[in-house]
Amino acid sequence: MIPAEHSPAPTRTCHACHRALHPTATAQVCDHCHQHTARRLADLPGLYAELDLALTPGRRPSAVSVRVTCSGGQLPFKPHVADCRTDARLVLTGWVRDWADVLDQQAPVWPVGHVEQVAVACEWLRWRWDRAARVHPAVDEIVGEIRRVHREVDEAARGREERPVWLVCATPECGGQLRFTVSTGSATCSGCGARYDRIALTALPVAGRATAA
Ligand SMILES: [Zn+2]
Ligand SMILES: [Zn+2]
Repeated sequence: MIPAEHSPAPTRTCHACHRALHPTATAQVCDHCHQHTARRLADLPGLYAELDLALTPGRRPSAVSVRVTCSGGQLPFKPHVADCRTDARLVLTGWVRDWADVLDQQAPVWPVGHVEQVAVACEWLRWRWDRAARVHPAVDEIVGEIRRVHREVDEAARGREERPVWLVCATPECGGQLRFTVSTGSATCSGCGARYDRIALTALPVAGRATAA
């Protein structure tokens, strides 16, 4: 009647990565999987907020982002990024509903905004992770999905930061171009040596549009 894996085994292994568990371990997962999952839950609200800030019209952090949107060719908005954002929110809030059932806990009152929902979900899960790691029957799936969602949101956030925009130097007749990304603090024109801080950079025209005009 009782499946074999439910009877005490001589060596218990982590349900997520199959490393051997310490004989006195009370969790179903090893310390490595336990700590990484907790850290990912702690990181996710910040990463998710960053993505959201970049993708929500009217909330972009700089004038350059708005110009990039208008330039057409280098839209920071990508459907797969929006999908990743939706998927992350559904996975995290979905586990909250699941754990509320399995652990017999009160689910949180959900705030209206998606960023706020993800923050509430991650905090709620983090507070109950110790217990879920001990008793939840799908702990391997939990570790795997949180790892996947963290990786996808992290990649989407970094992908946005690394996508460069080329700006045209303001020195008359220089025509030099400066590489600019969301994380650029300052830049020097290789043509004329003019140095631009971030605010000055955001005032420069985007390369493709300047030549068309
Ligand atoms: Zn493990
Ligand atoms: Zn220049």
